[in-house]
Amino acid sequence: MTSVPSPAPNAPASTALERRPGLEPLSYVTHTAHSAWGTYLAQIDRVVPYLGRLARWAETLRHPKRALIVDIPIEMDDGTVRHFEGYRVQHNLSRGPGKGGIRYHPDVTLDEVMALAGWMTIKNAAVNLPFGGAKGGVRVDPRQLSRKELERLTRRYTSEIGLIIGPQQDIPAPDVNTNAQVMAWMMDTYSMNIGATASGVVTGKPVHLGGSLGRVKATGRGVFVTGREACRRLGLSLEGLRVVVQGFGNVGSAAAELFQQAGARVVAIQDHSGSIACPSGVDFAALMPYVRDSGGVAGFPGAESIDPEAFWDVDCDVLIPAALEGQITPERASRLKARLVLEGANGPTLPQSDDVLADRGILVVPDVICNAGGVTVSYFEWVQDFSSFFWTEDEINVRLDRIMVEALRRIWDTADQHRISLRTAAFAVACERILQAREDRGLYP
Ligand code: NAD
Repeated sequence: MTSVPSPAPNAPASTALERRPGLEPLSYVTHTAHSAWGTYLAQIDRVVPYLGRLARWAETLRHPKRALIVDIPIEMDDGTVRHFEGYRVQHNLSRGPGKGGIRYHPDVTLDEVMALAGWMTIKNAAVNLPFGGAKGGVRVDPRQLSRKELERLTRRYTSEIGLIIGPQQDIPAPDVNTNAQVMAWMMDTYSMNIGATASGVVTGKPVHLGGSLGRVKATGRGVFVTGREACRRLGLSLEGLRVVVQGFGNVGSAAAELFQQAGARVVAIQDHSGSIACPSGVDFAALMPYVRDSGGVAGFPGAESIDPEAFWDVDCDVLIPAALEGQITPERASRLKARLVLEGANGPTLPQSDDVLADRGILVVPDVICNAGGVTVSYFEWVQDFSSFFWTEDEINVRLDRIMVEALRRIWDTADQHRISLRTAAFAVACERILQAREDRGLYP
């Protein structure tokens, strides 16, 4: 692997393949500077000066390879028919099949799914997994659907995107509001349609259906591992470390629990239901069953309820955004008390907020490495499904730890070498791998 080149003060003469950003905007999506795709494009712009001769291929990263929009009509329990809009975007397949989760949320848009797919391309390459990047979503609030309606929606959506997914083509996984049950329905639907059990078509399945041990907590574990390493480099002890978490779902709760087990105190949590603070550290043994039963942290008797905006002022050492995109606005970035931000969520920090945080000396471990633990264990699951030979949870966790530590070390070295942020360094390492693959494969025809 060659090292990331230094930025050239005088850009090389442009070639026929090189395009300036914005010269050929996509007609099918109107993005803004603050939209998720706008954020992704700004991040790509920042890395181009570090790509050397491979910069001539950089335009490929601004063009998703495929974007499929599907109509999902389903019969509701009351006999009416409703239509939902779904997407599957394959952003870049230069390094292997598409890989990325499926999100169910009423605010999902094509813009957002494109950005999430782009970040998957970068993430998979940053950790050096043999995958391209993809993502899917359905505009739906699953909390409003019965279990049977959710199953019908999932099966119809899977059938519609069945045109482009498959164990060798594109492998979905869980994301916001989807879980192992949704993956089981997706696997079954795809298998019924092709007439053979295809367990490798999705990851994040239940363990008895070819899922991997350790997958459920893998993303949170990866957040913890990269956070542990960052704390070591910053000289922060885990013992007594004050952690605040936004989002207490799959990622946020697992990461918070691992920090707490390592001696940290989780002093504030925010989710869709409300925000709570507890300076002495939240009691997890009581909080976990409370959230399971009530659906959120609001009203938890072991903590004080706080205003959602006051959440961003809580005194802490580490902030873990683990909910949705765009949460760390420049204004919130100017108020944060943390020394370290661990991006459990995808795209939680706007590009302008990155600058504010850097000016204030707050280190950000970016999403494309910080939350890559999930897709890394998804990769293990995919490999195990192909060989029908399953590893122990210990083996999974040890391999995950090793891959995450090595990926972060390489990115950190690149950041030190060029005096750039960890985000730009992660993009530089990843883009070099993606664009080298693009160049070696060449253009068809
Ligand atoms: P989840 O559905 O399990 O949990 C989402 C959490 O966010 C919930 O606690 C919800 O209450 C909270 N939330 C939603 N809207 C909010 C709001 N407006 N304000 C505050 N909190 C809000 O989802 P997840 O799987 O934990 O994913 C969280 C983030 O992590 C997403 O950005 C996702 O893309 C990213 N991610 C997930 C995985 C994975 O393996 N699940 C992998 C990589 C990245």
